[in-house]
Amino acid sequence: MSGIALRPLKLTSGLDQCPMIGPRRLARLERRGIRNVLDLLYTFPFRYEDRRVRFAISDLREGTETGLLATVRTIRKKEVRKLRAPVIEAEIFDRSGSLPVVWFGQEYLLKQLSAGTQAFFFGKVEYSPYTRSLVLKSPLTETIDPEEGFRKSYHVGRIVPVYREEEGISSAVFRRLAGDVLRSLWGETFDPLPGEVRNEAGLMDWFPSIVEMHFPKETDRPLEELLDPDYPPRSRLIFEEFFLLEYLMMVRKKSLLSSGRSWEMSPLGEDPIALFEQSLPFPLTQAQRRACRDILGDLSSTHPMNRFLLGDVGSGKTLVAAFAILQTLREGQQAAFLAPTEILAQQHARTLLKLFKTTRGEENRQILPLLLSQSVRGAERRRLLSSLASGEQKLVVGTHALLEEGVPFHSLGMVVIDEQHKFGVAQRKALATKGRNPDILVMTATPIPRSLALSYYGDLEISLLDELPPGRQPVTTHLVTETGDAFWKEKILPALKRREQVFVVLPLIEESESVEAKNAMEAHAFLSSLFPDYRVALLTGRTPGEEKDATMESFRRGDFSILVATTVIEVGVDIPNATIMIVENAERFGLAQLHQLRGRIGRGALPGTFYLVPGTSTGEEGRRRLEILEACPDGFRVAEEDLRIRGPGEFMGVRQSGLPMFTLADLVRDTGILVRAREMASRFVGSGEGRRESAWEMSRLEEFIRLRYKNVDQWLSTR
Ligand code: ADP
Ligand code: MG
Repeated sequence: MSGIALRPLKLTSGLDQCPMIGPRRLARLERRGIRNVLDLLYTFPFRYEDRRVRFAISDLREGTETGLLATVRTIRKKEVRKLRAPVIEAEIFDRSGSLPVVWFGQEYLLKQLSAGTQAFFFGKVEYSPYTRSLVLKSPLTETIDPEEGFRKSYHVGRIVPVYREEEGISSAVFRRLAGDVLRSLWGETFDPLPGEVRNEAGLMDWFPSIVEMHFPKETDRPLEELLDPDYPPRSRLIFEEFFLLEYLMMVRKKSLLSSGRSWEMSPLGEDPIALFEQSLPFPLTQAQRRACRDILGDLSSTHPMNRFLLGDVGSGKTLVAAFAILQTLREGQQAAFLAPTEILAQQHARTLLKLFKTTRGEENRQILPLLLSQSVRGAERRRLLSSLASGEQKLVVGTHALLEEGVPFHSLGMVVIDEQHKFGVAQRKALATKGRNPDILVMTATPIPRSLALSYYGDLEISLLDELPPGRQPVTTHLVTETGDAFWKEKILPALKRREQVFVVLPLIEESESVEAKNAMEAHAFLSSLFPDYRVALLTGRTPGEEKDATMESFRRGDFSILVATTVIEVGVDIPNATIMIVENAERFGLAQLHQLRGRIGRGALPGTFYLVPGTSTGEEGRRRLEILEACPDGFRVAEEDLRIRGPGEFMGVRQSGLPMFTLADLVRDTGILVRAREMASRFVGSGEGRRESAWEMSRLEEFIRLRYKNVDQWLSTR
């Protein structure tokens, strides 16, 4: 097997230049997203197997699984009448003794293991009743390669990597491929990370780390430790993953900081926060005050605001947004408040209207937020658009309709985006470019873990609302196995009698042939007949816009006792009199989404009860997920668990962002490494100015990032 002439490879070489790669494998690898040598090197094994030489022949007992290094004394083929394939019999020896070996089939071994060949053997020793002796049965074998480099063998006689078998590419093929490629690159001194960073963080060099991830050195430690994040080659590559992403974030942040503001805030007179607070029926929470102060700082700086307001459900984000908007309007600028649904946009418009009516200062009373959505049409729409274009209309709250090309602004100074993850980057950009570097405040109703914020939203400043307003009623969560008549009569009827309101949430609108889950239409019919004395409303994604609003409005007024709905009510909806929510087929929803739903109750004077009803076919894993919700009321902790279970891709539009997914790093487990990588990336980008050496390092780093992450340019070009 030795002596394959390898063409020298580069990291950028296509895989067609690698040994053993024909058109079929090429296509299969490409389907796995592996296109060049670098992709291949970053496809790491998921575990290792110990196939080291740990025994001499005389140590062997029946049942031993062994790696041996031995020499072939004899080898021959024997036809056995009953068997279709020939039996290959050999005898091997080392210094301690000799041992018979048999294989079934595999005639090529006759050539490969001719007498006198030294080789590794890995297999199980059994007792043969025929020869009345121990025999090594069908071992894996590999001859020793005398060539330079790290290779003695790939498959036996060492700790070997085990790769995921996908697209018909076996672990063994992958192992060979990785081994040959590493051998061809042997002695590579390239390292994407700046030398200074490597030294300070005490990191291993790049190539040795890659080699050892695939083919670990001999170690006395248990093999599982090779999977630990502090195994030096692994920890170096985890750091690298975080560093690359944070580098991108810092570069972007720096470019934002160097772009100018479109408007300047006049010097502050009376403390705007105190002024704002005086007009509210309640004091701001400490966290809200801090966030408002952060925003004031941004607005009076030299660059546009780019802030992420993070807070649990009900922490009062809308009020902070209102504060930001108010500051903008005071300076004669326009503001746009973007929400993902019509219901939510209307609610925000209503909240702002009420707020600005009572806010001190004559000019605020004249601020009339107008709504722009698909349902605003005809003359009303034309009037609104022309007053936005002339700058006469200062504040608009709207849905996706705001993003359309025919919606111009005169001087858009502030963009607030609620539920930012419901919008793609391109959509955010579409709104932002309607102004000249407007201030941007993004919010999310779902709390996201700090590690996720620091990584995928690392270019934004963060304000954290880690405190709920006082007097928030607790919500108790229960997992119930079924909702028969008894459940409704015992748990729900008493609340209806007290004139409290109830949400019932279902995953489907109507019966589906392909999905086994309860649906809203049936639930609506069932509850209407079960509770003839109470009115039951139905709201789904298919309800027409106007009817949706009307239904929501009459539920808010209390005309209906029960609202049966799909997740259209998921975000933001504020009905203080609702005290109970039942979620059917709860296993079909994400944890963060369920927490968001839970936030819809307990918003008034009464405590809430949240019932989760898993479908009958829910597995153990699914139940355990729901139990997390039962056990923790804190949204940040729920989100962290959700991140742990589902990974970042499913979170908050991360997959759609065009940003790279992590291969080795784990956002929950490796937060410590993340924070360090972020800090060092920030310093590296900050100190870059004027030093030729670091300019060179930056361009090398960027080239590497582009090679490694193909979609990153798309992300870089959007704000
Ligand atoms: P979310 O952060 O989930 O968007 P909202 O902004 O909808 O939360 O606020 C939830 C509720 O809490 C609203 O009814 C709001 O009026 C109320 N609220 C906000 N801030 C305070 C406060 N400081 N004190 C009391 N109630 C508040
Ligand atoms: Mg909200």
